[in-house]
Amino acid sequence: MSNELNNNPHRRYNILTGEWILVSPHRTKRPWQGKTEKHNSEKGPDYDPSCYLCPGNTRTSGETNPEYIEPFAFTNDFSALLPDTPQKELNNGLLKAEAEQGICKVVCFSPDHSLTLPLMETGDIKKVVKMWKKEYAELGAKENINYVQIFENKGAVMGCSNPHPHGQIWSQSSIPTEIQKKSKHFKEYWQENKQSLLADYLKQELELDERILVKNEHFVALIPYWAVWPYEAMIIPKKHHQHIGQLNEEEEQSFAEIIKKLTIMYDNLFETSFPYSSGIHQIPTDGKEYPEWHFHMSFYPPLLRSATVKKFMVGYEMFAGPQRDITAEMAANTLKQLPEKHYTKEV
Ligand SMILES: [Zn+2]
Repeated sequence: MSNELNNNPHRRYNILTGEWILVSPHRTKRPWQGKTEKHNSEKGPDYDPSCYLCPGNTRTSGETNPEYIEPFAFTNDFSALLPDTPQKELNNGLLKAEAEQGICKVVCFSPDHSLTLPLMETGDIKKVVKMWKKEYAELGAKENINYVQIFENKGAVMGCSNPHPHGQIWSQSSIPTEIQKKSKHFKEYWQENKQSLLADYLKQELELDERILVKNEHFVALIPYWAVWPYEAMIIPKKHHQHIGQLNEEEEQSFAEIIKKLTIMYDNLFETSFPYSSGIHQIPTDGKEYPEWHFHMSFYPPLLRSATVKKFMVGYEMFAGPQRDITAEMAANTLKQLPEKHYTKEV
C-alpha cells in the first residue's frame, strides 16, 4: 500500500502531540541483523550496603529506610519541587514566571538490589502497579497537586546512577507541556468523533498488525507509527481508561504482564540491561473532567545498534525536529522475533 512512501524519506505525524518526525529509511540498507557483542549477564548482589535505596540503609538525609519487603515510596531527599513554595508571579515586560508547588517521590520497586522490572516476577510488578495507583490517588487528591507524573529512568546512559530498581513520581500544581499538547489532540478528536483517539488508533494498529509487539487480554504494546526513538514503545489499555486508578485487579495483572514482556524483549535485543525512560501519561488531577483522555505508558530507549551505540538527538534534531533511520515497522519486526525468555535465564 505505502511501500513507496515507506522506502523513501517521509514525515510521520504524531496524532497525540501534533508534531512531525522525519524518517529516512533509505539510509538503512541493511537493518541490524543480530547480536554483535556479548555482555556481562552476571547477577549483582541482592543487597548493597552503600545503596541508599536498599532496605535498612541510611540515606544522605539521615533517614533510614525501613526493612521493606514490598514496593516502598518516600519523598525525594533532593526534590525538584517543594510543597510549601510561596505563590508568586512575575510579569515584567517580556519576563514571565510563576512559582510552582509540588511533591517528588521515589518508589523502590523491590527490596532486591539486583533486580529490574524484566527480572521481577509478574506478581511483584503488579505490586508496583498498585503502588503507582495509590500514589496517583493520594498525591492527586491534594489541593495544590494538579498533575502526577510517574516515570522511571533506567540505566546510567539515562542519567540514573543507582541500579536499585526504582522509579520516581513528580507531582505539581501546573499541568506540564507534554500533557497539554496531548490534551488538545485528545479533545479535538473527541469533539469531532465522540471516540477515544487512542482507542481508534489501537483498532487500526490491531487490524494492520505491523507494529504490534505483544498483546494480552487488556493491553497492547506496540511501536507507535510516529516513534522517534529507535525502539520506542507504547503500552495502551484496550479499555478507554483515563487513569490507572480505573484498573481492576485483572487489568493490573495484565498491565504487569505486558510490562514484563516488553522489558524482556528490550533486554534480549542487545543482551544487556536495556536503558530507557518510561512514563505514564494520564489525566490531570485538577478535578476537571477529561472524558477524551486515554492513559498510556511510553518507553523511550536510546540504544540504536548495540549495547553501546546510542542514538543522539543532535544537530538537525535540536534545531529542526526529530529524525530516525530504521522505520517503526523494522524495529517492531526485530523486537517481536526475540525469544520470550530473558537472556540471563537458563533455557
Ligand atoms: Zn539497593
